[in-house]
Amino acid sequence: MKHKFVDVIPENLEDEVLYISIKYATAIHLCACGCKNEVVTPFSPTDWQFIFDGKTVSLSPSIGNWSFKCQSHYFIKNDEFVFMRRWTNKEIKDGRKKDKKRKSRYFKKARISPLAWLGLK
Ligand SMILES: [Zn+2]
Repeated sequence: MKHKFVDVIPENLEDEVLYISIKYATAIHLCACGCKNEVVTPFSPTDWQFIFDGKTVSLSPSIGNWSFKCQSHYFIKNDEFVFMRRWTNKEIKDGRKKDKKRKSRYFKKARISPLAWLGLK
């Protein structure tokens, strides 16, 4: 795959392209399995982080498309999709719980409410 730095996310996304908007601190791509679902990965201390090594881009943590039919699970590492095993329902549930915990810990530390942080308050 390749990555493209953009100011505005284009309307028609191409397969195998990771569109990155620094301005909006987010990236978007079409699901790696080819199902054409759009996958949005916002960048924040509690969501995704990306590494740009000057040539290629990596995202962390992995991307689990549990809300799609395909349920694909993969990493983006050095401009490549690295497919992972599909998670079981229990793993998905545990993962969501962990995510929630991590977020609440972060917001406690930051002493701001999640709503304020999202600019909704
Ligand atoms: Zn898919």
